[in-house]
Amino acid sequence: MKFGYSDTCLDHETGDRHPESPDRLRAIKRGLADRHGVEYVETEPVDRERVLSVHEEEYVDSLKTFCDAGGGNWDADTVVSDGTWEAALTSAGLAKQAAVNALDGDDGRQTPFSLGRPPGHHAVEDDAMGFCFFNNAAVAAQAVIDSGDAQRVAIFDWDVHHGNGTQDIFYDQENVFYASIHEEGLYPGSGEIAETGSGDAEGTTMNIPFEPGTTTAAYLAAIDEVLGPAIEAFDPDLFLISAGFDAHEHDPISRMRVSTEGYGCLTKGVREIADDADSALGFILEGGYGLDTLSESIREVHEVFDGYEPMVPDEEVSDSARDILDAVKSQEEFDGLSADSY
Ligand SMILES: [Zn+2]
Repeated sequence: MKFGYSDTCLDHETGDRHPESPDRLRAIKRGLADRHGVEYVETEPVDRERVLSVHEEEYVDSLKTFCDAGGGNWDADTVVSDGTWEAALTSAGLAKQAAVNALDGDDGRQTPFSLGRPPGHHAVEDDAMGFCFFNNAAVAAQAVIDSGDAQRVAIFDWDVHHGNGTQDIFYDQENVFYASIHEEGLYPGSGEIAETGSGDAEGTTMNIPFEPGTTTAAYLAAIDEVLGPAIEAFDPDLFLISAGFDAHEHDPISRMRVSTEGYGCLTKGVREIADDADSALGFILEGGYGLDTLSESIREVHEVFDGYEPMVPDEEVSDSARDILDAVKSQEEFDGLSADSY
């Protein structure tokens, strides 16, 4: 894969005991060190104007002032250092570059994966939260829409948390489809099935809140039965994956049970969706807090693009997951999931 990476993203310092640490990127690079076909590309940070396409000026300026003053606790768990501003602009820049490169034709072994931090999917229009400052996936999607390189962008967020920020930013925007699978009841508490978008954008938000303990099989069923048909009907030019790895069975902050091999299966699933929809495909890093599980899972994603065939786990879809999928399908906004829906 073509990994977007910059040392500038290490300069966002969060203290010794914070799970979202620069060591995450170091672990990912170590995990990829002996792999075939790994390429790194660096890129420029986005400028303030680009951030303002999805965030409010008052928030952006107050974050800059806070960073310039040396930082501190923005909220209970979102920490700012003096390097956060540049790191956040760079993280958004890497995400944007992944989108641009995917639309320029990078696919197969060249498929882009942006390894930026801080992550982005909790950042809402007017605030930072949940370790996130600028919504990297939203900046990327809006950038390629504004440039005319894409008419429609779909974002699938498989991070264990609901990407409330991405959902909010595009909730009433019909040219961006946002779908999330997340652990029900976990931070930030949003992402109910009935949240499906508003106004003309009804049916362009899809939430699949699975119970704690849900395994890879249910994720794959969601991809096959619900997400795939929806994305194909939406017919995006670009399909972005908000790729967190905190639904891993050994991640320290969730109770989901996706295996390392399972992330390979998810990767194969989203790749097939992109192929079927004739869409460009790119990955953007979100969460993932076990250093070993994070690096092993990203290595697994890379391996799938390097020709590895992941083993589908021998598991049943749980009854509770089956109920959730049926409830999502029964939302009238997703009726038939045909091209007419969009
Ligand atoms: Zn997360």
